[in-house]
Amino acid sequence: MKIGGAWMAHPGTQGLCAALETAGHRALFVGGCVRNSVIGAPVADVDIATDATPQNVTNIAETAGFRVIPTGIDHGTVTVIADGRPHEVTTFRRDVQTDGRHAVVAFSTDIAEDASRRDFTMNALYADRLGRVVDPLSGLPDLLARRVRFVGDAEARIREDYLRILRFFRFHAYYGDPEQGIDDEGLAACAANLAGLGALSAERVGAEFRKLLNAPDPAPAVWSMAAAGVLALVLPGSDLQALAPLVHLEASTPPRWQRRLAVIGGDQVASRLRLSRAESNEISLVRDAIASALTPAALGFLHGEQIAQDAILARAAVFGVTPPENWRTDVRRGAEAICPVTASDLMPGLQGPSLGLRLKEIEAAWLASDLMLSRDELLA
Ligand code: ATP
Ligand code: MG
Repeated sequence: MKIGGAWMAHPGTQGLCAALETAGHRALFVGGCVRNSVIGAPVADVDIATDATPQNVTNIAETAGFRVIPTGIDHGTVTVIADGRPHEVTTFRRDVQTDGRHAVVAFSTDIAEDASRRDFTMNALYADRLGRVVDPLSGLPDLLARRVRFVGDAEARIREDYLRILRFFRFHAYYGDPEQGIDDEGLAACAANLAGLGALSAERVGAEFRKLLNAPDPAPAVWSMAAAGVLALVLPGSDLQALAPLVHLEASTPPRWQRRLAVIGGDQVASRLRLSRAESNEISLVRDAIASALTPAALGFLHGEQIAQDAILARAAVFGVTPPENWRTDVRRGAEAICPVTASDLMPGLQGPSLGLRLKEIEAAWLASDLMLSRDELLA
């Protein structure tokens, strides 16, 4: 099997791999870039695995004229900027000690050791700079069959690092086969190790859950998460009824985890997922809008196009209806509209608090008219 792609042909990428090889080392692409190239999905970042130590990588890359940033020397990673492009170069590793959250690692020169500490077989694929795939654990057939399977014993791998429970559902959402369903052994292993989830920080849980909800269709994976008892711990009080309908209504609208989270809900979402104030506000606005009677144009005026769009889709999903006709045009009309009555229209007759009050009434009437009433009609 051979892979290719513009990312691989990049002169900096080729130059870096060639420099490591010339120095007598192995330099192999690994993880997402190989996995995604095999299935024709876009490649986000380039990870390279090597038998050279971080110090050697640094020397070799600097001698070749590249800039090196020591991003994670302790766990074996340096970032090499070659012709303007970042590459995460990590020395082959094996786990020495794990506690479910952090691993103590030792450097290795054995690719098989490096592959065995990775989470899923499809993530343990390597390729050299010519694109020749190296597959120490038979991840390729799993990837092509869209099977997300743990490397080795699923339960043992989860106990090493409980974040893998959440990664299992995330990778299934992106790379799994919804027809075949989620891997039984993996699902059972997640269900049997729920207690470990408590060891994870809200920050890591939040980061994983955001990525999961950003999948083209996260609904089947999130339902599996609920079936395994994971969702009740990650997001108690959440409700999945409207998730699949939402994804269906979105059609070609780009995914947004905030919109999906708004229909799922849950108790103390902000603290459980470590949402920023801005993220939390957005989600509250969408949830309030679901329960309101505001028209698409009114929502566009009040909250802007993005939130209004999320709210209309979410509301339709929650109530099991189709969104109003021409709602996208109406949202845009609202987002661009300016209320035809301003304070100066009411002065000097009204001042201070009574002016504010009257303006609010007028805006409410204008919104209720779907932004149709004119200045004269509103002043009458
Ligand atoms: P993407 O970046 O598109 O989300 P990726 O596969 O590159 O996908 P990363 O989280 O960037 O995912 O990790 C890179 C690689 O490191 C993975 O493919 C996997 O081999 C390994 N890896 C990452 N996190 C873990 C983990 N918790 N346990 C075991 N291996 C992991
Ligand atoms: Mg990656």
